[in-house]
Amino acid sequence: MPSKILRIGAVTLTGGIVLALGFALVMMNSVTLQDRLVERALTARLSQTPTNLGGDGIDVVFCGTASPMGQGSAQSCVAVFAGDRFFLVDTGARSADMATRLGLPMGRLSGVLLTHFHSDHIAALGEMHLASWVRGRPQKLDVYGGPGVAQVVDGFNMAYGLDYGYRTAHHTQAIMPSKTAGLVAKTIKGDRVIYNADGLKITAVTVNHPPIEPAYGYRFDYQGRSVLISGDTTKDGNLIAAAKGVDVLIHEVLQDELVKATSKALVAAGQENLGQLIEDTLDYHTTPVEAAEAANEAGAQWLVFYHYAPVPQNALLKRIFLRGVDTVRPEGVLAASDGTRISLKGNSQSLEVTP
Ligand SMILES: [Zn+2]
Ligand SMILES: [Zn+2]
Repeated sequence: MPSKILRIGAVTLTGGIVLALGFALVMMNSVTLQDRLVERALTARLSQTPTNLGGDGIDVVFCGTASPMGQGSAQSCVAVFAGDRFFLVDTGARSADMATRLGLPMGRLSGVLLTHFHSDHIAALGEMHLASWVRGRPQKLDVYGGPGVAQVVDGFNMAYGLDYGYRTAHHTQAIMPSKTAGLVAKTIKGDRVIYNADGLKITAVTVNHPPIEPAYGYRFDYQGRSVLISGDTTKDGNLIAAAKGVDVLIHEVLQDELVKATSKALVAAGQENLGQLIEDTLDYHTTPVEAAEAANEAGAQWLVFYHYAPVPQNALLKRIFLRGVDTVRPEGVLAASDGTRISLKGNSQSLEVTP
């Protein structure tokens, strides 16, 4: 009697739905249950905070992988942990929100390294300052960058100055000390080591992103492991030389065919200025195939893409984005997204990627 079984099934299903709805109604009206659910959710969320970042090696967590061509994703931001040090390379729009959603230990923040001062690399600097200050950062926040970094830092300090004062006044010096409020500019000139302590060496590397002069990439060396983050650049000889033998080369990418198609569509829709602006970006970034060539020339073990222009938001666009890459570099290529973590154990060859 298949029809009876179905009917019984339907009755059972309906009964289940009624029961679930009834339960949901009771839940919504029970203050005790509501509070318990919130408490449980908060505890679960806080317990997911990663506690083992850095340690005896290098951990890299992507807190933003978008260029300005990519709504939704956070813009340029890479967190690098080495031992107990924690640096952020760039703080693009939405990256402070992403960093806190990922549970990064913001109170440990040692400094920010700005590659250059395009808005998609600095927009969240004020929020990164706040996110680390409220979590107990023990010193003012050092911000490294080329000439011009003092102007950026002064601007953020001025814009957020009243906020610093309000929070100390409201929460007291014990909770929000004014001695740790504020950003401190550290100006870099030329290619040089900008940090060398506790076994961690950070080298600033000039790259090619005209008219910005200089724009920087940063190389991290710790416990025999190394990571170089390109910042925004064309395929560049100085970057390739600095990346010689690096474990991981994290390189920006612009897919020229997708950018040209976007530009053409904007012009056709009557947005000539925006179409031209998009077209202009072709001359100061690196295509995925060029980035693969750069990684090969440097002898990098792994190439990791980030700062996507545009952000490939579906399987078709991802396929187009990687066109030709496997011909140049069949292995050792990863495409990062917001939240990707790469772990390099000290004095080993291991590389772990999550998710
Ligand atoms: Zn950029
Ligand atoms: Zn740029």
